[in-house]
Amino acid sequence: MERPNLIERLLNLLRRWRSGEASATNGMITCREALERLFEFMDGELEGVEEKQVEEHLRICERCYPHLLFEQSFRAAVRRTFEGERAPETVRNRILELLRTGQSEA
Ligand SMILES: [Zn+2]
Repeated sequence: MERPNLIERLLNLLRRWRSGEASATNGMITCREALERLFEFMDGELEGVEEKQVEEHLRICERCYPHLLFEQSFRAAVRRTFEGERAPETVRNRILELLRTGQSEA
């Protein structure tokens, strides 16, 4: 997946504002829903509308996008360390928990 740059994201927002989509959250999933499906999305397990909704949310949402970047670099780091082995669930869950905790306290 290509990382959209800031200008592209701003243009996307502008287009949505012009078409009146930004004020209405119709069709836009919540951050919670997006993050719950982040792993499925990255594993290519989502299809059709669901995949599009998560993709769209991650592209637009300033809050969730860092999670995707973080998870991508985390996976890359784990791959380098464990060469072909699955990411240890406990480590992954612990980091996710830290992210969630930090978010709710912010
Ligand atoms: Zn979000």
